[in-house]
Amino acid sequence: LEMKASNLNNIIAELYPLMQASAFNENKQILFHPSHITIDIMCSEKDIKQLILNLVKNALEASPINSCVEIITEVDKGYFRLIVKDYGPGIPQEILSSIGLPFFTTKESGTGLGLAICNSIVQRHGAKMEIESSDKGTTFIVHFPQPNCTA
Ligand code: ADP
Ligand code: MG
Repeated sequence: LEMKASNLNNIIAELYPLMQASAFNENKQILFHPSHITIDIMCSEKDIKQLILNLVKNALEASPINSCVEIITEVDKGYFRLIVKDYGPGIPQEILSSIGLPFFTTKESGTGLGLAICNSIVQRHGAKMEIESSDKGTTFIVHFPQPNCTA
């Protein structure tokens, strides 16, 4: 696994035209709110692209027509955060513990692999993923440890 310091906001900006094009096709939109401070993470860029694309794909699939998916990056003490937020129906409480298990899907033609892949990418990067979900939408939050910070 090739790890190097990469700028998270640049990685997202690189993927943005592709993500926006697929959103636009379905009358949806992607908004990117980058942190003002540069976020450099030690990562495999290929993995981080896969993580972002999987989360955004799920967010778009859950999004009603004319809604948006927001991608936010933030700096907090000791952590960098990548946030993917949608305004879809949310994840029912009773399936929350099953999502992310390989092959678990509620979609007719889903593979149930997207989040399982995200989980292993998150783990390989020493990061943590949290899910906040209600009937107003779902937010996936990935916390990356800041290099040189043991907090
Ligand atoms: P797939 O997308 O192929 O179903 P994933 O592993 O990407 O597989 O997602 C697993 C399940 O988690 C989905 O089938 C869906 O039920 C739920 N899920 C994931 N992301 C969201 C989201 N943003 N909003 C609502 N449900 C979601
Ligand atoms: Mg998926």
